[in-house]
Amino acid sequence: MIKEILLCKYGEIVLKGANRKYFEDMLCKEMKKRARGYGNFDIYRAQSTIYIDPKDEDADLDGMFEAASKVFGIVAIARAAVCEKDMAAITETVKSYIPQFMDGKRTFKVEAKRSDKTFALDSMEISREIGGVVLESCPRLRVDVHKPDITVKVEIREFGAYVSAGQFKGAGGMPVGTNGKGLLLLSGGIDSPVAGYMMAKRGVRLDAIHFESFPYTSERAREKVLELASIVAEYSGDIFVHVVSLTHIQEELVKACEEDYFTLLLRRYMMTIAERVAREKECLALITGESLGQVASQTMQALGVTDNAVNMPVFRPCIGMDKEEIVSIARKIGTFETSIQPYEDCCTVFTPKHPKTKPELEKVKAQEDKLDFDALVEEAMGTLYTVHIKAEY
Ligand code: ATP
Ligand code: MG
Repeated sequence: MIKEILLCKYGEIVLKGANRKYFEDMLCKEMKKRARGYGNFDIYRAQSTIYIDPKDEDADLDGMFEAASKVFGIVAIARAAVCEKDMAAITETVKSYIPQFMDGKRTFKVEAKRSDKTFALDSMEISREIGGVVLESCPRLRVDVHKPDITVKVEIREFGAYVSAGQFKGAGGMPVGTNGKGLLLLSGGIDSPVAGYMMAKRGVRLDAIHFESFPYTSERAREKVLELASIVAEYSGDIFVHVVSLTHIQEELVKACEEDYFTLLLRRYMMTIAERVAREKECLALITGESLGQVASQTMQALGVTDNAVNMPVFRPCIGMDKEEIVSIARKIGTFETSIQPYEDCCTVFTPKHPKTKPELEKVKAQEDKLDFDALVEEAMGTLYTVHIKAEY
């Protein structure tokens, strides 16, 4: 009977220095939290690896694999068979475990790693010997050490020997929570969930703010946004979504200001309110899904006018990406299908026909001064309510 286990490897690079133990503990804790839904596992760490070790037959290793592949900070995950640290046991395990992975494969190589230096053979010797075993059990295969279709790994580690074939990419990045908390401006579109995902990948914990404009925007539009938050939360962990109404601000803008400036003015309100909420919730930066030149409000001049409204870093991880690149990430993380559901956003009600693409700050401010900015911000803050999106793994 072969026993399987997951080996989750974290990148050495980001974990150097004094914070290392803190990061490792954080990752281990995260894995334990995610394992809860999949049965009984022992989860422990050694040698830059988190071991996810099923305690009984009922533990769902496939489900756990899926869950582990969404944990930032893990660079690779291998599903491995465990055996005694001796060549006879390793040989037997290779013979019975490895052939199932070889369908459709023509070439392979063996990579051995011996972190337990007391083991009798060195890595070269293990590779050579196990290469022979694989050739014997799968006679169709050839060895190709340069560009193999699949790599068979044998690792002699602290707690045992591990045999695996093929390694899967982890989510990469840094453990969520190791780089502060940011406030994501979350619309129902394609870009902002991707922006949130990307910053979470850099270790940023997320809160989100969503602006609605009821009755111009609908209940369904809000539900869609909460669903997007819930998908991002599979990676980032729980998200508190703060919902603020812009209805009155938009109605006042339409009455008092020149149409060409609507979007810009609205964005300055959004940023100002977002900054207020960020400070209250101890977020150190704002995050948006803006991409340079994508729409009129995302030219350099427009972004300058928007940034001028706040006194806090604004992270725009999509800024240098094409729509296609953003879409491909949205598909990968699972937000795309939800994002393309056709519900209105508050930015799309009262949109100007000829928005300013090269706005001048002074002119924008002159328009802004037609209303009592601070009072409207204050009033909007009064509409805030918070929805706790719990991460479902
Ligand atoms: P997305 O695809 O994320 O909606 P977009 O390309 O449609 O972005 P805009 O609608 O101009 O661009 O919005 C730019 C950014 O402003 C969004 O990525 C998001 O961060 C923020 N934003 C827009 N609308 C809202 C909203 N209703 N609530 C919160 N943030 C918003
Ligand atoms: Mg949008």
